[in-house]
Amino acid sequence: MKKLVVGNWKMNPTTLAEAKRLSDLIKKGSKRIRNVEVVICPPFVYLATSDKRQATKIKLGAQNCFWEEKGAFTGEISPKMLKDLGVKYVILGHSERRQILKETDETISDKIKEALKFGLQPILCLGETKEEREKGETYKILEKEIKEDLKKIPKTKIGKIVIAYEPIWAIGSGDPCSVPDAVATILFLKKIISQTFNKRAGKTIRILYGGSVNSQNAGDFLKERWIDGLLVSGASLVKKEFLKILKIAQKI
Ligand code: PEP
Repeated sequence: MKKLVVGNWKMNPTTLAEAKRLSDLIKKGSKRIRNVEVVICPPFVYLATSDKRQATKIKLGAQNCFWEEKGAFTGEISPKMLKDLGVKYVILGHSERRQILKETDETISDKIKEALKFGLQPILCLGETKEEREKGETYKILEKEIKEDLKKIPKTKIGKIVIAYEPIWAIGSGDPCSVPDAVATILFLKKIISQTFNKRAGKTIRILYGGSVNSQNAGDFLKERWIDGLLVSGASLVKKEFLKILKIAQKI
């Protein structure tokens, strides 16, 4: 199956000129990439500058959205607005939003529901902290997150969800999860999805790995049949690195 590679730019780069330059370089460099689904998630303010009519295979993603369609919600952006800009995916429940912005499973669940209503595909991020891992609580934490975050999703919509397993200690640390551990955890998540939704959903749901992925280790994750792709942040801001990852994904 086609691998999915998502670049999360977080709050980078800091000028529109740099964002356009990076986006143009990635579009140009990936023109001949086949058989890989590529998504770039820039900050909101750069989404509107991306020309929907431009012939590119790269899809647009957002890094967050609100749980209502419109109204008195100062500072928020709705899935309907994102859809209108040509956005296809939206990252929800990233650990930085859970930890720094204090997002809860309840609001993440509302956001997933609203994103689906407007045809956006949520990329739900899940992961344990270092302390939770050391206490042997990884699976307990993941099971709680996945069940609560997906509790408002109708069974018919589960196929639209992408999950990203992102151990928090691996994000931006240069210390990725081992491939066998990532595979075991992804299989565990599939089991929970099978039990909560149905067997088919557990089999077909796409689960990505994220956390300190670079061009050196991307192939190790991508060659695993249970890892459907990668969520990459730091390396997605470096044109050469990101293009190398796409080329590796294409060869798998
Ligand atoms: C992330 O924060 O989603 C992430 C995967 O970060 P990095 O690739 O920089 O570890």
